Amino acid sequence: MEKRRIYVDNSATTPIHPQVLEEMMPYLTESYGNPSSIHFFGREARKAMDKARERVALGLGAKTEEIYFTGSGTEADNWAVKGVAFANKKKGNHIITTKIEHHAILHTCEYLEKQGFDVTYLDVDEYGLVNPDDVENAINDRTILISVMFANNEIGTIQPIEEIGKIAKERAVYFHTDAVQAMGNVDINVDKLGVDLLSISGHKIMGPKGIGALYVRKGTRIDNLIHGGAQERKRRSGTENVAAVVGMGKAVQLAVENLDQHVRKMTYLRDALIDGIKERIPHVRLNGHPSQRLANNVNFSFEFVEGEALLLSLDMEGIAASSGSACTSGSLDPSHVLLAIGLSHETAHGSLRMSLGEINTREDIDYILDKLPAIVEKLRALSPLFKQCEGGKVSV
Ligand SMILES: *Cc1c(COP(=O)(O)O)cnc(C)c1O
Repeated sequence: MEKRRIYVDNSATTPIHPQVLEEMMPYLTESYGNPSSIHFFGREARKAMDKARERVALGLGAKTEEIYFTGSGTEADNWAVKGVAFANKKKGNHIITTKIEHHAILHTCEYLEKQGFDVTYLDVDEYGLVNPDDVENAINDRTILISVMFANNEIGTIQPIEEIGKIAKERAVYFHTDAVQAMGNVDINVDKLGVDLLSISGHKIMGPKGIGALYVRKGTRIDNLIHGGAQERKRRSGTENVAAVVGMGKAVQLAVENLDQHVRKMTYLRDALIDGIKERIPHVRLNGHPSQRLANNVNFSFEFVEGEALLLSLDMEGIAASSGSACTSGSLDPSHVLLAIGLSHETAHGSLRMSLGEINTREDIDYILDKLPAIVEKLRALSPLFKQCEGGKVSV
């Protein structure tokens, strides 16, 4: 097989969909008005933003006035957690979240702990699932917010959001979910889920980078995060990134329209990759839930292999994947998610995430299945531990 360029890191970011770029172009060129201006340039930009907001609202089953654009998924997460915490601190100072959240939630919660808030970080089971009973048991009379991610970015596990939503509603606690990875891979309806706040990001769904959105249920008590010129109906200041907002609107529309077809295609490719790896490579462990997982997520631990070495070898073969071990380059800490599902440091370090997208084909999967076994075998041949354990009992 000839050398190819294969991108299987779609949970890190995706390419812009051609139809998204096409809709954005006028707002990067001739239609440059400030949406706050009352002249026709401004009105044109305002109209484009209104349309984008309607598309996002429709995609989430929300009202248009419940959608706020932000500068990223990270900002949406920060705003939801800090905004609710600061606006409700007279009522209580307790927040419930999980050990497997994205750092946009975890580091925000750690910051709030320094500000006097009390945070419960719930455990997950070996598949990365949160038990709704644990959520219920963690609620006390000072609890003001529950934040549980919809789908995990590393291992793909999808949480029982609807069940947690019912508990939150019964106990009158605000409920936020980070749906950045779920969007486009799972059907989302804010009323059905029972969420009060929900974050999404543009670049994870073939939209532009540097744009996100926060759904805020009408009546939710939330402070502003960014103060200034009163854009976004006095909620999020700063002159709007009109082209990115337009791109986000189109990306959400396409994600929702193509959901069924996308999930069918991703499931087919994902299962071919998972089954192929299990067939061809011994001593592997699939991380995440076997069925309650994102259609595009593959995450394996390869015993006796170093994840970074695996990534570099794949890179040399033209395969762009991600290590499950560290999000921040240069960091040697194993992933908090893999540790939370009970992996040892060694096993967590030997992990690989391949996240699929619309750009991937069956040929990509076959190419990976052709290259990966030999790479793993070569790296294991260098491992003294593997030689000791070969033929004997191994931990995975
Ligand atoms: C990517 C990601 C974010 C952050 O979104 P950005 O737009 O990149 O800031 C938050 N949560 C999850 C689960 C993500 O995968």
